[in-house]
Amino acid sequence: MTLRETNLDKLDGGSFDVLIVGGGINGAVSAAALSARGASVALIDRGDFAGFTSQESSNLVWGGIKYLENYEFPLVRKLCMSRNRLMRAYPANVKEIGFLGVLGETAPFPPWVVGVGAFAYWGIGNFKTNAPRPMSPETIERIEPIINTVGTAGGIEYADAYLKDNDARFVFSFIRSAMDVGAVAANYVELENAERVKGNWHAELRDCESGMPINLEAKVVVNAAGPFLDGLNKTWNTHTRHQIVYSKGVHLVVDQLTPNERVLAFFDDDQRLFYVIPMGNRSVIGTTDTRVDDPHTEEIESDRDFLLE
Ligand SMILES: Cc1cc2nc3c(=O)[nH]c(=O)nc-3n(C[C@H](O)[C@H](O)[C@H](O)COP(=O)(O)OP(=O)(O)OC[C@H]3O[C@@H](n4cnc5c(N)ncnc54)[C@H](O)[C@@H]3O)c2cc1C
Repeated sequence: MTLRETNLDKLDGGSFDVLIVGGGINGAVSAAALSARGASVALIDRGDFAGFTSQESSNLVWGGIKYLENYEFPLVRKLCMSRNRLMRAYPANVKEIGFLGVLGETAPFPPWVVGVGAFAYWGIGNFKTNAPRPMSPETIERIEPIINTVGTAGGIEYADAYLKDNDARFVFSFIRSAMDVGAVAANYVELENAERVKGNWHAELRDCESGMPINLEAKVVVNAAGPFLDGLNKTWNTHTRHQIVYSKGVHLVVDQLTPNERVLAFFDDDQRLFYVIPMGNRSVIGTTDTRVDDPHTEEIESDRDFLLE
C-alpha cells in the first residue's frame, strides 16, 4: 500500500479534532502547528499540495515597507516582527536580502522622503537587518552595471528577506512535519460537502483519482482553500466581514541578469513597484497586478510586454 492509500484508509470513517481543507502554505502551517500541539489532524487538497497560489509566489518575506505610504505603522510593525521571527526560525531558508530601489523619473517620492521611509522601516523592524544605504547614480552603476541610471536621482538599498528555497518545497516541509507527528494528509481529495450536526462536522470528501466517496467527522474545520475560500464558506452559509478579490500576478523567468544576490526594485509608469529577484542561475521579473474575476488565470502577451518594456 502506498502512503496515500494508507492515509485514505485512515480518513474514511475517521474522527478527527480538525479537518483542514487546502494544502497551500496556510493549510500546511495550520496542520504542522495543530498536530505539534497534540490535535488529531486530517489535511486534504483537491490538487497537489502547494499546487495553486503557494507555488506562484515571488518568494519575498517582507515587512510591508509599501504600507508606510499610507502611514499604516501598526501593520508594518506586525509584518516586520513576523519577518524577523521567520528569519530566526528558518535561517537556512529565509534569508536577509538587500532591495536596491532605483529612483527614476517615475518614482512617486523625492529621494529624501524615500530615505526617511527606509530608515523608519529599519527602526520599525527593531534594527534587525543591515542599515539602509543611500546610493548615488555612480555607485549604482558600479555595483549593478545592468541598471541604466540616466535620469535617475540615485537610489537606496534597504534590507528585507526572501525565501531562498522553492516555495512549494517550503510548504511541503510543513506537511511532512505534520505527518511526522501523526497528521493524516492526502492530496487529490476534494471536500464536496460539510455539515455541522450536534457540534460535530460531517464531511463528505471524494478521492479525485478513483472517484470514491470518503466520509469523516471533525470537531473543527479549517477553511484554508485560498482563493476558493469564499465559495466554500457560501456552501456552509458562513458570512465573513471581508471577501477575496482576485488579482493576476505574472512573473517572467529569464537568464540571470545580475550575479549579485540582491533584489532590484523599480517603479513602473503607474508608480507601482516591480522587482528583479534572484532565483539560482535565473532572474525573475515581476509581477504584474491585474484585477480578474476568476482565480484560474494565464499569462498573455500584454503581461509579457509590460514586464519587458
Ligand atoms: C504572483 C503572486 C506573487 C506572490 N508573492 C508573494 C510573496 O513574495 N510573498 C508572500 O508572502 N506572498 C506572496 N503571494 C501571496 C501568497 O502566495 C498567498 O498569500 C499564499 O500562497 C496563499 O496560500 P493559501 O494556502 O491561502 O492558498 P493556496 O496556496 O491557493 O492553497 C489553497 C488550496 O486549497 C485547495 N482547495 C480549494 N478548495 C478545495 C476543496 N473544496 N477541497 C480540497 N482542497 C481545496 C486548492 O487546491 C489549493 O491548493 C503572492 C501571490 C501571487 C499570486
